[in-house]
Amino acid sequence: MTRDGLIQHTSARPLLEIRSLSLDFGTPRGRVHALRNVSLDVPAAQVIGIVGESGSGKSTLAYTVMGLLSENADVTAGSVLFEGKDLLKMPAQARRSLLGDRLSMIFQDPMTALNPVRTIESQMIDIQHHERGSQGEKRARALEMLHRVGIPDPQSRIGAYPHHFSGGMRQRVCIAMALLVKPALLVADEPTTALDATLEVQIIHLLKDLQKEIGCSVLFVSHHLGAVAELCDRVAVMYAGEVVEEGAVRDIFHNPAHPYTRALLECDPGRIKKSTRTLPTIPGGVPNLLGSKVGCIFRPRCRHASNRCVQENPVEYRIGFDHVARCHLLDEERLVSA
Ligand code: SF4
Repeated sequence: MTRDGLIQHTSARPLLEIRSLSLDFGTPRGRVHALRNVSLDVPAAQVIGIVGESGSGKSTLAYTVMGLLSENADVTAGSVLFEGKDLLKMPAQARRSLLGDRLSMIFQDPMTALNPVRTIESQMIDIQHHERGSQGEKRARALEMLHRVGIPDPQSRIGAYPHHFSGGMRQRVCIAMALLVKPALLVADEPTTALDATLEVQIIHLLKDLQKEIGCSVLFVSHHLGAVAELCDRVAVMYAGEVVEEGAVRDIFHNPAHPYTRALLECDPGRIKKSTRTLPTIPGGVPNLLGSKVGCIFRPRCRHASNRCVQENPVEYRIGFDHVARCHLLDEERLVSA
């Protein structure tokens, strides 16, 4: 375990180390505490999934890593170490030079991620600005990557504009662009949300193959548990700006410890055995994150809540070798078995 209570997954230093990160958004109604004391490691060549409902802070975390936050965002504590250097303290120029080189991103909406007035060819050549080689060599690399992501007849399609492609094909182009630079870390923010189910499966398989081929790490943000189970090595479950559980994908899916993780899994349509007209939901909603909170943030929706949950914010408890969760029940179980 590290000083923060986190588990060190390998002897090598993780590629990305998020430590005790807290972030607020200033709004006319007050400060929204969007991330609270978030710690997470992304080891080299691993795929880490972040799951949770809308409003849990998963995309905010991804955007913080990429340095793409809005102007009203304010990091109040913590660090984001990438290859040992704190991205939050890096000069803007140095940080920008990592983008499209060591760090790359796939956005949620393939309809708006590409520049609509430039051809795919010019965008794919430009993104290689860190690479050596002539225009012809960069074009050849772009063609090879378009072929790799399954764009039919890339020779004739590379000169087309984004609006000439369907949503699924556009997301393939976005994946091609993000991986063309062979990043050390790919941040994928709900890359399959805008696609239909068949395309989603294809894109997940494609991402998995390319990640193995390139050997990069991936921070994969999704609310689709099936996609996370398929693609990821480890999973962090976020709720209302906090990581409430983290572990290997098999532990999270087969031995979930936090009541929120269990509730999320119970609501996953892919895991419902009986036919039903109404899909289950977790009662209540993600809380308003204005102002300070005392006690467990999940308490109003938790059927196991006790007085302790009202007064004390749970700390992180270790459940297995590399499985942790924040819930007082785990402390109580530990005391009973001691
Ligand atoms: Fe539920 Fe209490 Fe655990 Fe929070 S700490 S998840 S309220 S039992």
